[in-house]
Amino acid sequence: MTQDLFRKDAYLKDCTATVTGVADHGITLDRTVFYPLGGGQAGDAGVLVLANGNPLAIIDTRKGKDDEGRPTAEIVHVPAPGQEALLGQLRPGDSVTARVDWERRHRLMRFHTTTHLLCHLVPQLVNGCSITPDYARLDFNMTDPLDKEALNLGIARLVAAALPVAVGSITDEELDANPALVKSMSVQPPRGTGRIRTIMIGTGAADAARIGGEVIDFQPCGGTHVANTAEIGAVIVTKIEKKSATTRRVVLGFA
Ligand SMILES: [Zn+2]
Repeated sequence: MTQDLFRKDAYLKDCTATVTGVADHGITLDRTVFYPLGGGQAGDAGVLVLANGNPLAIIDTRKGKDDEGRPTAEIVHVPAPGQEALLGQLRPGDSVTARVDWERRHRLMRFHTTTHLLCHLVPQLVNGCSITPDYARLDFNMTDPLDKEALNLGIARLVAAALPVAVGSITDEELDANPALVKSMSVQPPRGTGRIRTIMIGTGAADAARIGGEVIDFQPCGGTHVANTAEIGAVIVTKIEKKSATTRRVVLGFA
């Protein structure tokens, strides 16, 4: 099992770790700061710095799978092409420093938090989501048109309000009692461990006066987020597409 340090602290840029497995498809560690593809958010890239100082380039991060394709509790660091020689030097038990490409990850965090702001601005169920370092898209299950300018004004207002973004958790029972917390039609939060990670944007009475509500968005989410909406900066809606009769796609980019 890989300890997922990024879930508690998305701002960890590196960690020391011990190699637990080496294969052509990827390297597993006892703990990591690399986020694996999931919940619509792209997997992290970066480097594993070997004990001799050589950096092994990581191009992607995935959740582990067993022989039958079922997910495991491992996180797999996928080596970039051309890393065979360095991969050959690596053995289970070796110490490495795992370092994410922070500039890339921070863009993913800014986009991911913005998709949660969109869930507040567009109170409809989500039936698709993709967050990449260069753009993000969120598909809403709805038939009415969306106004790009209105959404951009809404995002700018919530970014300017500098709202805190807090990681928390609820129990399976609390989620069962509040099924409306789940805004995605396609992805259900993972159950079974007893607690489900949540992201809350905008807490406290101070915000109530400024934005007309204490909590802007609260939903189960395993992704990495900025700590304050001010950090999102200049993210805008670049495009709204009618994907189908019942789907409106909102595409986010950097201004
Ligand atoms: Zn999320």
